[in-house]
Amino acid sequence: MPIDATQPYDNQNIFAKILRGEIPSKAVYEDDYAYAFHDINPQAPTHILVIPRGAYVSWDDFSARASDAEIAGFIRAVGHIARENGLVAPGYRLLANAGINAHQEVPHLHVHIFAGRPLGPMLA
Ligand code: 5GP
Repeated sequence: MPIDATQPYDNQNIFAKILRGEIPSKAVYEDDYAYAFHDINPQAPTHILVIPRGAYVSWDDFSARASDAEIAGFIRAVGHIARENGLVAPGYRLLANAGINAHQEVPHLHVHIFAGRPLGPMLA
């Protein structure tokens, strides 16, 4: 079910549990600002989720409340993952769903990285 991204952060959401190690995940990368892992239901040969370590519901929440260091660290982590996994030359897509109309399901900010096949034109 899509979530209302205006709700306060719920620290029992599934990605919060993954961050705390309460639920297993297949790690791709981690540093002080970001944790990246494989999506459990991949929509492309490479489907990685990158999440900030801080408690943010969505991109707008993150950009409003996170420190400059957290924002820079998170964005750098996404780029690092693309480079280190050989995604730059063949190409990749970033996606961050926010709120009901975008069908955001997990109320912890996450950026999807899709790659590994031609992804077609941008979907509206
Ligand atoms: P959203 O629709 O919120 O942008 O995407 C949520 C994503 O999280 C989906 O692609 C879904 O497959 C993934 N997901 C949901 N629960 C889990 C989980 O427990 N582990 C992992 N690795 N991915 C999950």
